[in-house]
Amino acid sequence: MAPLLEVKDLVKYFPTYSRGIFRKKIVGNVHAVDGISFSVNESEIVGLVGESGCGKTTTGKLILYLERPTKGEILFDGKNAIEIFENGSKEEKMELRRSMQMVFQNPYASLDPRMTVFDIISEPFKIHKHVPRNEWKERVYKLLELVGLEPYHAERYPHEFSGGQRQRICIARAIAVEPRFIIADEPVSSLDVSIRAQILKLIMDLQHRLGVSYLYISHDLSSVRQISQRVMVMYLGEIVEAAPTDELFDHSIHPYTRALISAVPIPDPKRKMNIILLPGEVPSAINPPSGCRFHPRCRYATSECKEEKPSFVEVDKDHYVSCHHYAEFA
Ligand code: SF4
Repeated sequence: MAPLLEVKDLVKYFPTYSRGIFRKKIVGNVHAVDGISFSVNESEIVGLVGESGCGKTTTGKLILYLERPTKGEILFDGKNAIEIFENGSKEEKMELRRSMQMVFQNPYASLDPRMTVFDIISEPFKIHKHVPRNEWKERVYKLLELVGLEPYHAERYPHEFSGGQRQRICIARAIAVEPRFIIADEPVSSLDVSIRAQILKLIMDLQHRLGVSYLYISHDLSSVRQISQRVMVMYLGEIVEAAPTDELFDHSIHPYTRALISAVPIPDPKRKMNIILLPGEVPSAINPPSGCRFHPRCRYATSECKEEKPSFVEVDKDHYVSCHHYAEFA
């Protein structure tokens, strides 16, 4: 079966300017996303992990055309999404906007404090006109129930809710348009640990009950492991490893993936953690390192790594890695 979402060689460069008094001149580019390709299948949760600033959030925004890609192709349900967002009819754009939704990191900032929960959740009905006016109330109650809230919550305002409840409201608003695909960008990172598990369970429930697919963006590998079927690891604008979840966590190959996994807390006080510390900082995305971008921080780097960019090769079924020396680490 063809994937629901296909991203091909996606690139996003943000120009940087000189500080001239009269004329601004482009002096370079931030290589935020640099030639990434991946797919998401129907009813699948794919995790996208990496440190802050690696390009995860930009990837999500590019897919939804909240940022204009510099290059590349995005196919949604076989249709060219960039072409539709740029040249499609109003109906085609609305249809695509309905099919793809986003849940943001901060539930405190993403809800209008002047609107009741009813108004927030029913707003998409007004925009997309897919629910008759006389069914709004019933539909809002149903959505509240789906996300574990009560009908009486509809008349309240966002400030009357906890962080976890607000994120539930954000999710209810996202699924109000019956999307097929949701980008969840760090949806639990601003929540208490006790609430995180509830929101992750809700995301998985909706996957099973409504068949929604997700791109789950996070720097928290524990939550990614818990809910994703496949995981992609991003470093400095590129995907360096991708595999089915258990395969990635149990048989990671790329030295960067191994370092990330080594820092995941183990819920067993008797087992010792062997954290792999990476030297230095993530290099600047304005002038990324030559060859393998990870080479300045990789203890296995050779002259080949510094000069030549490694290919992204399939080393096992659905397990891809970008490393010259993968055979030595497998
Ligand atoms: Fe390290 Fe070289 Fe592999 Fe890059 S290609 S991860 S520098 S060993």
